[in-house]
Amino acid sequence: MHIDQFVERHSESISIRRDLVLRARNGKVCPDAAGALASILRDIESSVDADGNLHVEIAGNRVATRADYERTELARDIRLAESGMDDVVRDVMEQYPEISSESYMVAERLGGRQFEACFTDRDGTVNGYSNRYSTSVQPAHVALALDRYALAACRHFVILTAGPLEGPGILDLSVLPPSTAVFAASKGRQIVLADGARREAHLSNEQRDALQTLAAAIETLYETERFAPFRYVGSGLQAKFGECSVAYQDWQSNCPQALSQAFRAAVEEQIRRIDADGRIFHLEDGGRDLEISALGADAASFDKGDGLRFVAEHGGIDLSGRSILVCGDTASDLPMVRCADESGASLETVFVTRNDDLAARVRAIDPDALCVTRYESLVLGMYLAVMEETHEFMVV
Ligand SMILES: [Mg+2]
Repeated sequence: MHIDQFVERHSESISIRRDLVLRARNGKVCPDAAGALASILRDIESSVDADGNLHVEIAGNRVATRADYERTELARDIRLAESGMDDVVRDVMEQYPEISSESYMVAERLGGRQFEACFTDRDGTVNGYSNRYSTSVQPAHVALALDRYALAACRHFVILTAGPLEGPGILDLSVLPPSTAVFAASKGRQIVLADGARREAHLSNEQRDALQTLAAAIETLYETERFAPFRYVGSGLQAKFGECSVAYQDWQSNCPQALSQAFRAAVEEQIRRIDADGRIFHLEDGGRDLEISALGADAASFDKGDGLRFVAEHGGIDLSGRSILVCGDTASDLPMVRCADESGASLETVFVTRNDDLAARVRAIDPDALCVTRYESLVLGMYLAVMEETHEFMVV
């Protein structure tokens, strides 16, 4: 299978899943959706070997990568379409006892409470990690859980991501009904409100032009034989608002180290060429991606705390004195917690992390923050928090 075919086949699941969410919302089972998703999964499985490696063709070479996220979530959505949300929840809990116990912890913490707003990160927090952003389509059962929770417990439900809005971005990859959430991309600088209205932060023409030139230079690197595979590595190239990120490794480190570093060096060379005196860009190395952002007038780069404030201001969200829920999974989400706290909100925090150091940093801001280890624990916990008969899922 060619990588393009894999991406395209998987993209076909988006409209099926959107429709599935709307129907499953009303308690319907959808055998036709189950059949269509099963056909996509079968196509992907035909290129997967006994060890779970997905063999694809990229620029004339056969490359082994992983598609665990795509396969797992397609299987869960097939179950959703065949027999409903309750069976998906039961299956996941039976298979993973730690998700079962953690999701009850989340449900206990959130149950019976109403929030002015929930600000949540997407990847790793309310979504699993894929090796390619372009196939990290939101699963229908995840969307259904978030939809239930958002409508029952939050006046505003904000998904605040560092990823782009479109092309592909959070709008393309989400299957959540658009009216349920505020989609805030590029760390909150580009937002689409629940009524569809859009808001954007300010960016100078010089910054806009430099970022466009950089994105074009990276596209040129992808056209070379040596660096062609990087288009499909991790998040690939994401041209975001005021920022651009380029992946040089995926999260499972499938890419050979020497090649990965050579690509990283080639990208840095382009950055120096466009911004020789370092006046326009701020460069951050995330370990797998280079994040190049336009410097603000005060030379400080925009973080998700600024994003939270921007969304609150434009989305009519009161922070001071209100109950605000913040969810995240990495250090880049900490500014959201800090900003909500400093705005005088009554703060509730849930983090998805196995990292003790990060958990300590979250608790330095919110001593009562709850930490769980898997995104499913948070998503299912939110679902259970607003379900009336939560006890049904108790695994004995
Ligand atoms: Mg994340």
